[in-house]
Amino acid sequence: MSNKLLKVDIHKKLKEFDLDVNFELKKGCLGILGPSGCGKSMTLKSIAGIVDPDKGIISLNMNGQTTYFDSDKKINLKPQKRNVGYLFQNYALFPNMTVEENVAVGLEKDDDKIVSEMIKRFHLEGLEKRYPRQLSGGQQQRVALARILAYGPDVILFDEPFSALDTLLKEKLKMELANMLKDFDGLSVLVTHDRDEAFQFCDELIILDEGKIVAKGKTYDIFENPKKVQIARITGCKNISKIEVIDDYHLKALEWGLEFEVSEKISPNITHIGIRAHDFSPATKDDVNVFSAANSKKLEMPFEWEVTLGNGLWWKVEKQIRDHEFDIPEFLKVDPKNIILLEE
Ligand code: ADP
Ligand code: MG
Repeated sequence: MSNKLLKVDIHKKLKEFDLDVNFELKKGCLGILGPSGCGKSMTLKSIAGIVDPDKGIISLNMNGQTTYFDSDKKINLKPQKRNVGYLFQNYALFPNMTVEENVAVGLEKDDDKIVSEMIKRFHLEGLEKRYPRQLSGGQQQRVALARILAYGPDVILFDEPFSALDTLLKEKLKMELANMLKDFDGLSVLVTHDRDEAFQFCDELIILDEGKIVAKGKTYDIFENPKKVQIARITGCKNISKIEVIDDYHLKALEWGLEFEVSEKISPNITHIGIRAHDFSPATKDDVNVFSAANSKKLEMPFEWEVTLGNGLWWKVEKQIRDHEFDIPEFLKVDPKNIILLEE
């Protein structure tokens, strides 16, 4: 039985705000989701030892406790002494080293066996003598992953691992990374501004905004019930409006000028509602939560219609690839249970 535990509790003054992050990770891949500039990379760099927090503790228990950083006890392990792999946003391969040299770079002594194992595992056979500039983005990412796994890290940190890739490659490499993580016995942290990536890879999630944790928990729970306006936005909720309460179960959405019934009693701290763009459906005019869909505009996607309604709401409707006709219905509705009650 191995007891794994990564503990992070750090404080750092940054230019525009203070970074305050604390979490404990016991298994799998933790996601840190937040907008650009909120402190995600800073958090990873602190764990890796590339930057120093002003205050706090970072420790790893992996069949034995190692303190990476402790400001009170003046402990600060060098990056090389932390068994942490860091996949940088732009992969950061050494441009003047070949693929096999890049893979071997973290090894204490040249270990041809490990290198050739990694070359094989990441489908880099035949590319051993090439330089990073002679590789595609996807190949570069695979070299970077091979380099990290070659020295057997306890923790892998992924900094927006897909942001530099085009859509097609992204899908493929997501599958590869998911498979790799399944075999990986250590802990990992993935930071991203992309809510789909956070959802795909992480059972547990932290939402970071301007250096502060605004939500922490199971990914499913956070997406289902974001609770706060800010979290609803970061998890990609398209429709958010300030409200005026009418009675316990009715409210007026000021943004769209619509009245809705909700399925949960509206508590006094509720100031807004959110409605996901997929949660509208065609209606007849006597339905609950019905409204006119007049003055709408539509945009065709391969598998989806994107509709902006005259009142400002966004609606997304699944379609077949062959269908190019779509008549926007006269009335739409939203199920009361799909109205998310939010606090400012
Ligand atoms: P993210 O990865 O979430 O996009 P970063 O962690 O890179 O954001 O940056 C967080 C904040 O820290 C930004 O506002 C940035 O301006 C600031 N910052 C970046 N580098 C430094 C530094 N060396 N010293 C102080 N502040 C920094
Ligand atoms: Mg970053």
